[in-house]
Amino acid sequence: MTLASWKGPRAGRLRPSAREIKMLAPRCDVCDEGINTPKGWAETCEHEPFVTLVPIERRQTLYEDVLTKDGKPTGTKRATGQETLVDYIIRPNWVSITLSRGVNSGRGVEKALRKGFIMPEDLRCEAYPDGIKPRCEFNGCFAEDIKPYRNGKFCRDLEAAMVYLCEGEGRTYEVGFNAISSEKQSDQVAAALTKVQ
Ligand SMILES: [Zn+2]
Ligand SMILES: [Zn+2]
Repeated sequence: MTLASWKGPRAGRLRPSAREIKMLAPRCDVCDEGINTPKGWAETCEHEPFVTLVPIERRQTLYEDVLTKDGKPTGTKRATGQETLVDYIIRPNWVSITLSRGVNSGRGVEKALRKGFIMPEDLRCEAYPDGIKPRCEFNGCFAEDIKPYRNGKFCRDLEAAMVYLCEGEGRTYEVGFNAISSEKQSDQVAAALTKVQ
């Protein structure tokens, strides 16, 4: 059984940040009635609570042929109006759980599981009956081509290094950190990489 692909956006900015686990939150307008909703409602919800159908609208102009007097096409077209077409994409209900000693004592995932959140591998819905691939654990990164490091799973070395620099050994890094801005910083990144690989 292979996990399905779901192409997600990569991180925009690379700076030291805590490890972040991507999970899926249950949402349903029918079954979730706020504070009175029984615990574990998502398990019996039949409305695909872990994904959202997102409508993508596009408009297109309609044309007709301009004809000669005897009814032959002139090659010119005339715009007669516009129509709106709607396609649907399936978006998993992503939530990012920060994992660091400072936040939830690093127990955010356990707490989220108790609240009924699930890992992407455990998603079961019509479009993805066997789950989708886990995500990169860098802040804001939803890439799925990831590999294991000592401090988590990431899509590239630099992201693993950035998480190490955020968490690692109480060291300080330059203010306004930018991974490619100075030699000192690239030394720091290189040193971090030797720790996480
Ligand atoms: Zn429901
Ligand atoms: Zn990544």
